[in-house]
Amino acid sequence: MNALDTMISPATAYSVAGGFADAVVDIFAHLDLSLSTRKGDGLAVFSPIDGSQLASLRTDEGGDMDTMVANARTAFAAWRDVPAPHRGELVRRYGLLVREHKEALSQLLTIENGKILTEARGEVQEVIDICEYAVGLSRQLFGLTIASERAEHRLTEYWHPLGVLGLISAFNFPAAVWAWGTTVALVCGDSAIWKPSEKTPLTALAFAGLLQKAAADYEFAPDHLVQVAIGDAACGAILADHPDVAIVSATGSVRMGQDVGVRVQRRFGRPVLELGGNNAAIVAPSADMGLALRGTIFAATGTCGQRCTTLRRLIAHEDIRGDFVKRLITAVGSLNIGSPLDDATHVGPLIDKAAFDAMQRALEQARREGGTVHGGERIEVAGSPDAYYVRPAIVEMPAQTDIVREETFAPILYVLSYSDFAEAIALQNGVSQGLSSSLFTSDVREAEKFQSAQGSDCGIANVNIGTSGAEIGGAFGGEKVTGGGRVSGSDSWKNYMRRVTATVNYSASLPLAQGVKFDLDID
Ligand code: NAD
Repeated sequence: MNALDTMISPATAYSVAGGFADAVVDIFAHLDLSLSTRKGDGLAVFSPIDGSQLASLRTDEGGDMDTMVANARTAFAAWRDVPAPHRGELVRRYGLLVREHKEALSQLLTIENGKILTEARGEVQEVIDICEYAVGLSRQLFGLTIASERAEHRLTEYWHPLGVLGLISAFNFPAAVWAWGTTVALVCGDSAIWKPSEKTPLTALAFAGLLQKAAADYEFAPDHLVQVAIGDAACGAILADHPDVAIVSATGSVRMGQDVGVRVQRRFGRPVLELGGNNAAIVAPSADMGLALRGTIFAATGTCGQRCTTLRRLIAHEDIRGDFVKRLITAVGSLNIGSPLDDATHVGPLIDKAAFDAMQRALEQARREGGTVHGGERIEVAGSPDAYYVRPAIVEMPAQTDIVREETFAPILYVLSYSDFAEAIALQNGVSQGLSSSLFTSDVREAEKFQSAQGSDCGIANVNIGTSGAEIGGAFGGEKVTGGGRVSGSDSWKNYMRRVTATVNYSASLPLAQGVKFDLDID
């Protein structure tokens, strides 16, 4: 155990006996944050655990957004002058606050989003980890020295803060995706406005509230360095269109990205798009079947199928498909489905009725396209008639039909088969999305081919682990309609800065590049 982990508050500190709305009030009081100035009748927030209302919030309209952007511009002008390691100090302090309140934040996240508590704790841990990553980065925002073709010239590239970050996020990772972008942007010298999903605004107000507290206590942090805009798509569209929002990082559906990406591009802002996936795992005959089974089940059913990296397509070799699918159906049948606050639960609820309806529509279409559906039915959970719990579905398909090529944001795993490896890769790549992919094999040639240029066309290509659960160090994102963006990891900090190429001539002559002659007879 890390010594810092002793700072974490004890588990089960918040009783839900009085209802989830009261638990939310208790959690905000424990965090020493107030919701009172946010109360209003613009946005009702519900818990997917039982469908009960958690809060009603005031939303931000056009005028509020303009003020927010103006304040963020002012904050940027001050923050960009703070040395990067000092900017890192703010993020370090924030990370300690999140660590201190890990349990409270995890419970809030579960209550509002519905993911099981262990996954919520994992998401909060990811926020803590990314803070540490960003702090390290604050001393490593390095440029290049390049060999100049001209004598006595120095040619370099360096990086400056870019401006205001507008970050639009999805409901399924209501804290981590924001932290990926915001902590890195902060050490890069940018200010930030967060437009969280309208389904998870309370989690946003808690996580951003703690950062605002850390900033208020930090002498170098200007006012309005980090702000939260509460509202729906219209609120996000204002950020996308605003000429003073330099970077728009948008995580969500392809439909959203098609709109936001074009809006940002039209004004030559910088878009960073993290959009939908339709992730596949290939299971080869040489695979360790136990490992493949465990990897498949977590990837397909974790977060109730509501991860961008959820496993949606299983491409099994024809020799092992029958047995593998039989074991898969049995295992999925034994998963505990119920309250995400119960430690024994494997699969919590879908976010809302719309998600349930979309899942049922997809299963009907799969049947029409020749599929055989196992599971997928609604599960009644005592005391939660307004919540949407489901048994994850395994759907045996005759081919990669239209519905298989779509992302349905629910726990549906389509099973396809292949006979030779090239066919498996063609199926894996035969969709418009390009986020995550995996291969289970013991054959080194297959493993290498899968990760080569001839192999997976996704941003993530794993061997012998599932498609979900990426670590923070590597660049995270995908190709094709997944948008091509990388919010965090590796060198994606460059998305939050502007590059300057700078030449210094320390000679007494003025040679031109490429040998161009421009002789002038002047003193
Ligand atoms: P969504 O697209 O409905 O909403 C995401 C966010 O975009 C919300 O804050 C929403 O208010 C906003 N929004 C929607 N339309 C907009 C518009 N036209 N202009 C501006 N803002 C707009 O997505 P969701 O249902 O919250 O999340 C599920 C989707 O997100 C899935 O497709 C999933 O794959 C994707 N996702 C991708 C990643 C990734 O890293 N690639 C991570 C998480 C989720």
